[in-house]
Amino acid sequence: MTDRLAGKVAIITGAGSGMGAAMAKRFTEEGAKVIAVDLNMDRLHGVVDELNQSETVATAVQADVSNLSDVQNFFQVADTTYGGVDIVVNNAGIMDNMAPAGDVTDDMFHRVMAINTDSVLYATREAVKRFLPKHQGVILNTASVGGTNGARAGVAYTASKHAVVGITKNTAYMYEKEGIRTNAIAPGSINTNIADSMKNIDKYGYERQAAGMGTAPEIGSAQQIAEVALFLVSDEASYVNGAIMPVDGGWTAY
Ligand code: NAD
Repeated sequence: MTDRLAGKVAIITGAGSGMGAAMAKRFTEEGAKVIAVDLNMDRLHGVVDELNQSETVATAVQADVSNLSDVQNFFQVADTTYGGVDIVVNNAGIMDNMAPAGDVTDDMFHRVMAINTDSVLYATREAVKRFLPKHQGVILNTASVGGTNGARAGVAYTASKHAVVGITKNTAYMYEKEGIRTNAIAPGSINTNIADSMKNIDKYGYERQAAGMGTAPEIGSAQQIAEVALFLVSDEASYVNGAIMPVDGGWTAY
C-alpha cells in the first residue's frame, strides 16, 4: 500500500462487482476516497462494507447510470460528502444478447446504448462542469475490445462501446488545454459477473461472435484491469490523454 491517490476523490460506477469493485479496492488502498455507485445495492453494500472495515473510505450510492437525475445525484453526493471529485470512472455496463443488426430489437439496442453510452455522456458532462473551474480532473471510461473490433459481441454492445471510444477521444481533445485527461481501458475477456446481463441469446449472432472470441488468450482478472486503471487515473499518467488502452493479454495483436 502506498499513497498514489492520496487526497483524491473518485467516483466509480459499477463498483458493486467485477472491475469496478476491484478498482474501488485498489484506489482506496492508494489513499483515495470513493463514491461507489451501482444499481445492485446488495452487491454494492458488500463491497463498501469491506472497504470501510478499519476506516470510512467509501460511500455507497444507488443509481441507474442511464438515468440523468441519478447521475446528477451521485455527483452531488460527492460534493456534499467530500467537497468535490477529482477522478470519474465510467465503468458500469451490460452485455447485449449477441444479436446482429438484422435481429436486434429496438428495445435491446436502446437499452444497451442508454446504459453503456448515454451514461458516459451524462457523467462526463457533470465531471467537466466541476473540473473546468479548477483546470484539473481525470476521466476514465471502461470501453472494450468490442469498442475497437467487430467480432466480440452483438451490434448493440459493439456500437455502444465504439461510441464510448468516440466520447473518450473527443473529450480528451476538447479539454486537453484545460487540464482534464480522458482515457479508456479496452478490456479483453475478463472474469466478472457480466454474463449475468446476457438473456435470450441470439443463436446466429452468438455463433458468429464465438468465432471471433475463439482467438482470445487466457481470461484476465478484474485485478489486472484495476492495476491499469490505477495507473491511468494517477499522476504517473500525466502525459496520457485520449488513449484507448487494450488490457487483453495481447488479443489486439493477434
Ligand atoms: P460486472 O457485471 O461484474 O459489473 C458491472 C456492474 O455494473 C454490476 O455491478 C452491475 O450491477 C452494474 N450495472 C449494470 N447496469 C447498471 C446501471 N444501469 N446502473 C448502475 N450500475 C449498473 O461486469 P464487469 O465485467 O466488471 O463490467 C464492467 C465494465 O467492463 C462494463 O462496462 C463492461 O461492458 C466492460 N467490459 C467487460 C468485459 C468482460 O469480459 N468482463 C470486457 C470488456 C469490457
